Amino acid sequence: MNPQRLYDYLHGRAQSGSADIQPVCAYVYDLAHLRRRADILRCSLPAQCQLFYAIKANSDEPVLKTLLNHTDGFEVASLGEIQRVRAVDSAVPIVFGGPGKSDIELEGALDQRIMLIHVESEHQLRRLDWIAQCRHEVADVLLRVNPAHVPQEATLHMGGQATQFGIEEAQIPDLLRLIQILPGVRLKGLHIHAISNNLDPDTHLALIAHYFDLAEAWQRHYGLKFDWLNVGGGIGVNYADPGSSFDWENFCAGLSALIAARQPEFRIVFECGRFLAADCGCYMSEVIDVKTTYGKHFAILRGGSHHFRLPVSWQHNHPFIILERESWPYPFPRPAVHDAPVTLCGELCTPKDILARDVRIKQLRAGDCVAFLLAGAYGWHISHHDFLSHLHPERVFLDNC
Ligand SMILES: *Cc1c(COP(=O)(O)O)cnc(C)c1O
Repeated sequence: MNPQRLYDYLHGRAQSGSADIQPVCAYVYDLAHLRRRADILRCSLPAQCQLFYAIKANSDEPVLKTLLNHTDGFEVASLGEIQRVRAVDSAVPIVFGGPGKSDIELEGALDQRIMLIHVESEHQLRRLDWIAQCRHEVADVLLRVNPAHVPQEATLHMGGQATQFGIEEAQIPDLLRLIQILPGVRLKGLHIHAISNNLDPDTHLALIAHYFDLAEAWQRHYGLKFDWLNVGGGIGVNYADPGSSFDWENFCAGLSALIAARQPEFRIVFECGRFLAADCGCYMSEVIDVKTTYGKHFAILRGGSHHFRLPVSWQHNHPFIILERESWPYPFPRPAVHDAPVTLCGELCTPKDILARDVRIKQLRAGDCVAFLLAGAYGWHISHHDFLSHLHPERVFLDNC
C-alpha cells in the first residue's frame, strides 16, 4: 500500500482531463496488497486452522472477488451479506452469525446452502429447527458462546460481560441437551467472538487456550465431538501507530505450539475483518480551507465523517499522511499552517465532524491532500453517506499498482 503512488494516479488522471476537476476525495483500495496479505496470513496458520473473511468490514464486490480464492470462506451477518457473497460465487463456504436473524433470513440461509449457522439464543435455535423441519432438512449449527471471562485489553467487547451476543456460558449445558432432541438442527461445534481490535498476541493466545478448555470440557461432559471451533475475529490494527501491528507470525507460532500440546480434534476457524482489510485502503481528501480561530488551527477537508465515520465512532485521532500539491491556481495567497498542531475537520455542519484533533504537522496548505491510512475496513461501510447531501467520494479499486 503506497498512498503517494495512489495519489499520483488520481492526480495524474485528473490532470489528463479524464475526470472532472473536483477536489480529490476518494477511497482507494489496493487489491493486489489485499491478496498478498490474505496469502501471508493464511500461509502462516497451522494446518488445522482456516481463515474466513468477515465481510461486514468491507463488502464491496472487488474485495470479495479478490479474497475468494485467497481465504477459506466468508462470514456474514445478514441475508443481504449472504446475497453479496453468492453474487460472487455460488459455492464458496459461508458461515452466518448475528443476534437478530429473522425467519426469512434463516430460510434464506438454508436456500443459499450456508455451511454453518451460528445460533445466538435458544429462541433462534428453536426457530431454525422449526424452519428446517418444515423443509425436511437438517441445519448444521455452531452455538455462539458468550464466555464468562475474557481479557479486557481490546477496544470492543462482545463477550465476558452482559451483551446482546451469543449465549451466556452458564446456559450452554441446557442448550447442549436441548439440541440433541431437536431433529432440524445438528450441532457441529462452538463459535466465540468476544473481543475486537486486540493488539496483543499473548492475550489472544490465552483467549484461544481458554476456548479450547471450554470446548473440551463440554465435549467430555456431554459425550460430544465437535468438528469446528470458530474463534471469531477481533485481531487488531494499531491506529495509534500503524507501523506496529499485531504480531501474526509470533501468534501463529504460539498457536502451533498450543495445538501440538492440546491436540484438539476440531478444526479452528478465524473470521477476521479488520486485520485482513484495514491496511488495503486509504481515504484521501483534499484540504479546502485552512484557518485559525481563537488560537487553534483547523483544516477543512473535502469529505469527512459522512464518508469515514471510524475516527468519530472510536473517538481517536486517525493516522494520516500529507500528500503535497505544489500547484496553486489562485492569484492570492495560499492559506497554510506550519509547525503547529492542526485539527482535521470534514465539511459537515456539526462540530463532531473531526477526523484528527490537534496533531502536530510540519506544513499543511489548502490544496494539499490528506491520506487517512488503515481505512480499508469499517470505513465507507459504516458511514452515513447522505447526511448533508455532499458528493460521495470516488471509490477506486486498483490492482497491481
Ligand atoms: C464483526 C465480526 C467479526 C470480524 O471482526 P474483526 O474485529 O473485524 O476481525 C467476526 N465475527 C463476528 C461474529 C463479528 O460480528
